[in-house]
Amino acid sequence: SFSSETAEKVNCNIGTIGHVDHGKTTLTAAITKVLAKDGLADFIPYDEIDRAPEEKARGITINACHVGFSTKARRYAHTDCPGHADYIKNMISGTSQMDGAILVVAANDGQMPQTREHLLLAKQVGVEKIVVYVNKADLVDNDVLELVDIEIRELLTDFGFDGAASPVIYGSALQALQGAETEYGEPSIRKLLEIIDEYIPTPTRDFTSPFLVPIDNAFTVPGRGTVVVGTIKRGVVNRNDEAELLGFGESIKTTVSDIQIFKKSQPKAVAGDNIGCLLRGVRIGSVQRGMLLCAAGSEEVSNHFEASMYLLARNEGGRSKPLTSKYIQQLFSRTWNISARVDLGQDRSMLMPGEHAPVYLTLLRKMVMSPGQSFTIRENGSTVATGVITKRLK
Ligand code: GDP
Ligand code: MG
Repeated sequence: SFSSETAEKVNCNIGTIGHVDHGKTTLTAAITKVLAKDGLADFIPYDEIDRAPEEKARGITINACHVGFSTKARRYAHTDCPGHADYIKNMISGTSQMDGAILVVAANDGQMPQTREHLLLAKQVGVEKIVVYVNKADLVDNDVLELVDIEIRELLTDFGFDGAASPVIYGSALQALQGAETEYGEPSIRKLLEIIDEYIPTPTRDFTSPFLVPIDNAFTVPGRGTVVVGTIKRGVVNRNDEAELLGFGESIKTTVSDIQIFKKSQPKAVAGDNIGCLLRGVRIGSVQRGMLLCAAGSEEVSNHFEASMYLLARNEGGRSKPLTSKYIQQLFSRTWNISARVDLGQDRSMLMPGEHAPVYLTLLRKMVMSPGQSFTIRENGSTVATGVITKRLK
């Protein structure tokens, strides 16, 4: 069956993005239809995808359909959302983090506002590779296709993607779904899948960047000192490495005097390992869960950040009133929380429930937050906003 054949393959997370009615759901259905022929997917009809059940993530209601399929190379978890608002919430909250995205652009329409908004968000949440499917090729002449090709590459470049290198495929998702074997039908889907296999890399552990360990826990070993515990997010930690313990206003320089994995001392540990690090000259009282241990000089703490933030609608458990600048609440990210102030841009006096906007955050204490890192804001124990960091400010 489908599941047993795909069990051995590595997984890649992708999804369709793009303007409403450009054919995202039709394309998703067409992909499953074509792959079902090879026993690599179960065919999911259009209506079933668009009737995606509601999911609750971080207290927000998101309609999203997760379709599983595989190619000869990999297994895919593919996300398609029914509405524009669902895409916004999905991307801002980091609910289905994509390794790459299929941008669907209808040839008869070209780029539209939601095309741009989805690309902006994709960039902000760290999606690096975009494959373009110029859809509805059945409705236009070749000249129009080539003009859309130029337009979309420029758009990708404007948003910080590699517009020149991004693959662009012309097709008709509808024809493919109807079983047409003409150029824009099934062959366009096969071409799309081949290119996705090639162009969107499988996520790998990062062993080369400076190391980073979010601290989950800390304890004292009598006679030796303070040990911090966490899973190495990236890089390699070596015994005697110079390190810094950052967060909650602290920047403590230290040295990793010992590394333990499963209680055994080791000379080094790599991304993915859960480690205990004995730190030289650090008092247990100055360590808190939520701090970061990182290679000396590799990260910076700040009180100030820019973010994209979505304010939950009332029927999502959010506020009934709009938010204005100088809004102060607890901000939650990873394993920590802290008091923070939210300010809106100068061109905006309020943010209505159900809307999203760029915001400025001021944290009570200096923390490490990186672009793409998500957070929530809670009032009286319930989530009222979700956001993603776009920039660290001084
Ligand atoms: P979404 O909002 O991006 O998910 O768009 P849909 O997949 O729901 O498609 C919107 C409309 O465009 C539907 O009526 C589809 O049948 C139609 N459509 C999708 N793909 C094509 C195509 O390749 N050619 C034509 N002519 N129509 C298409
Ligand atoms: Mg749709």
